[in-house]
Amino acid sequence: MPPDWRTLAEQMVKEQIAARGIGDPRVLTAMQSVPRHLFVPEAYREAAYGDHPLPIGAGQTISQPFIVAYMTALLRLQGNEKVLEIGTGSGYQAAVLAHLAQEVHTVERLPQLAAQARERLAALGLNNVRVHVGDGSRGLPEHAPYDAILVTAAAPEVPPPLPEQLNEGGRLIAPVGDRGYQHLERWTHRRGHLQREILEAVAFVPLLGEHGWPAS
Ligand code: SAM
Repeated sequence: MPPDWRTLAEQMVKEQIAARGIGDPRVLTAMQSVPRHLFVPEAYREAAYGDHPLPIGAGQTISQPFIVAYMTALLRLQGNEKVLEIGTGSGYQAAVLAHLAQEVHTVERLPQLAAQARERLAALGLNNVRVHVGDGSRGLPEHAPYDAILVTAAAPEVPPPLPEQLNEGGRLIAPVGDRGYQHLERWTHRRGHLQREILEAVAFVPLLGEHGWPAS
């Protein structure tokens, strides 16, 4: 690891995340603890702690650090939760979640990205994350229900199987909209009802699958 990665991560948290209003100390510590440069291709390592998304191969991206922190904070994790992430990509968001929850399941449709993410997470000793290959627009019913679900690819609507896999009190965050431009939605499962909030504008790559956009 570069000797200065901890300084870069600390600066990233201070200038890009805390300065923009994310105050949850657990989220800030988690963002500071994950070596982001290990989740990007070699060619982008120097840019890993910058204020932007980066390509990770296969036409996919690792999200901007602020967006990762913002979406993570919206889940309000306390440490004892079972979390589902849809769209493993590089594995970076899953690594952040691993610091904040008890058990993390993450689903990726592209086997090569899933394999790389699995290796990175294992190398960091994050043994509470399991990487699954499949169509995450169907959720992951075999391990449901979840206390929190985070979708990191955009669909025209929240895939209907996902809220069904939320526990009582569970939170779901997903980008919803067209292929270029979306809004984040937070759904909260309260006493049998789903409460929906519409939050920030975002731009995510498409969720491809049965309950997302067609794959071809
Ligand atoms: N969370 C990732 C990270 O930390 O690097 C970034 C996610 S990237 C913006 C979106 C990912 O969702 C891509 O890797 C893409 O292949 C994946 N994806 C798209 N449709 C999917 C689906 N139906 N099921 C699972 N993964 C999907």
